Amino acid sequence: MNLLFNGRNRVTSGYRLPERPDHNGLDIVGDDSKDILSPVEGVVRSSTIVTNKSDATWEWGNYIRIDDKNGNRYYFCHMASRAVKAGDGVKIGDKLGVMGNTGYSFGAHTHFEMRKPDGKTRLNPAEFLGIPNKRGTYMNQKNGWGQKGSDWYYYENGQAARGKWVKDKGFWYYLGTDGKMMTGLQKIGGKLYYLNERTRGGLPKGAMLQTDGNGVIQL
Ligand SMILES: [Zn+2]
Repeated sequence: MNLLFNGRNRVTSGYRLPERPDHNGLDIVGDDSKDILSPVEGVVRSSTIVTNKSDATWEWGNYIRIDDKNGNRYYFCHMASRAVKAGDGVKIGDKLGVMGNTGYSFGAHTHFEMRKPDGKTRLNPAEFLGIPNKRGTYMNQKNGWGQKGSDWYYYENGQAARGKWVKDKGFWYYLGTDGKMMTGLQKIGGKLYYLNERTRGGLPKGAMLQTDGNGVIQL
């Protein structure tokens, strides 16, 4: 699933719940990243702020509207800043802006709202995102290993670890600056390490087996 923020997405107010039936969107706080990422592919129809308070849209502060290919509308409100402009095409995962507290808002968050092409009929954004429509913290991506093609990545708080060691089930692994798990003989931090090239004898692929004579760790 693709949520609005990398890592933890904390829903502070749900969509039309009994305690707040006129709340037509989800309020979401990014706890690990303030960057709002598009959960949908489409075209930016609005990227603006309304300051005239006779227009109720002022409550949204800096907001962006994206329309998908079916004309459904997606609104992202209260941004601190906007990273796309009207007419831009966006893909899933593109940065739309930074979470903020503009408009009628009390504390930095994003009000995420969805409407049908008629511009009036509301849709349940929790259903679209694939998360429960209630308060809680939902991860953008599971922690641990994930594979793309033949490459392995290690996710922490929904983000691929890059340029660092990680320890998993007793073994150390190294993720390159591109996030890919490294294998074979590698010089890391000025020292040589051997990272298992294929799973065998109970040793997983990528696991650090030993260092050379200059290494700190020896089997
Ligand atoms: Zn809201």
